Amino acid sequence: MESGYNRKFTEEDPLRIVISGAAGFIGSHMCDRLAAENHHIVAMDNLLTGSERNLAQLEGHPLVRFVRHDVTEPVVIEGSVDAVLHMASLASPKDYLGHPVETLEVGSTGTRNMLELAREKGARFLFTSTSECYGDPLVHPQVETSWGNVNPVGPRSCYDESKRYGEALTMAYHRTFGVRTNIARIFNTYGPRMKLDDGRVVPSFVDQALRGAPLTVFGDGSQTRSFCYVSDLVEGLRLLMESEERYPVNLGNPAEITILEFAERIRRLTGTGSETVFRPLPEDDPKLRRPDISKARRLLGWEPRVSLEEGLASTIAYFRSLGAASA
Ligand code: UDP
Repeated sequence: MESGYNRKFTEEDPLRIVISGAAGFIGSHMCDRLAAENHHIVAMDNLLTGSERNLAQLEGHPLVRFVRHDVTEPVVIEGSVDAVLHMASLASPKDYLGHPVETLEVGSTGTRNMLELAREKGARFLFTSTSECYGDPLVHPQVETSWGNVNPVGPRSCYDESKRYGEALTMAYHRTFGVRTNIARIFNTYGPRMKLDDGRVVPSFVDQALRGAPLTVFGDGSQTRSFCYVSDLVEGLRLLMESEERYPVNLGNPAEITILEFAERIRRLTGTGSETVFRPLPEDDPKLRRPDISKARRLLGWEPRVSLEEGLASTIAYFRSLGAASA
């Protein structure tokens, strides 16, 4: 059989793909997408922050096999593998601040183990990195050639530096062993299957709004973020998997909004009477964030299609369906 290096990524020619972090928010959407394209999936997760509920729709699917495994332990897979997607991560500030050592481990040892698997199997490799590589950005919007402004010893460093190390390791495997690698720098992404209590601003505000509780704006709310709906992100990752670009590619929605305006948007879309309360800004919270996606547009022909209004409407509907309003 041809190795994963040369085989095409089409429905007619299905591949065997190993995904770490498969039970996570983005990982599970990626599994849905690839299973719908008839690829075989080994869906791996240690369920520290992921949930089997996110993969419930794929239970019994003939092409999907769930493996409970921590990627910081060596990854052994029988048979051929064509692509390795390393998506395991503690992506929410609340999660990584609560598990800093595990966060560093999954970005370092975990990335190494997944890269080793790709090398051993002659498979492609995709690393899901982050806009946090830019830290509190000195260049706005953030462009891939900017090297970032990261506090290496601050509370967020466990996440930022593990991803920066993961990027460096990915490039080293490409340069040293010729592994066909891709690096996605993912900006704030939202949608169904985010955890209601994961502390990030989208689930937090929606949860608070549905309960009629005050929306907790950190700092004065003048900091900005740019929110990408998960289906757009999955499309970008899918295209990147086939790209020959080895250097990082930003994937995110360039529509930028202040957190205060964002609270207003949530209030309007949920129809809540919740007031706004101000809480201290977390240490090293980036002041501005917006992706420059020129590179993704040029190389992948990709750009987001789902507006914030549309994406939030389906996200709010999802949280309502969980009974968040009555929580
Ligand atoms: N934030 C907020 N209230 C919350 C949660 C977050 O004002 O209840 C702010 C947070 O300080 C940051 C932005 O919203 O400026 C996005 O935070 P999130 O944790 O979603 O992701 P980040 O971009 O910081 O990784």
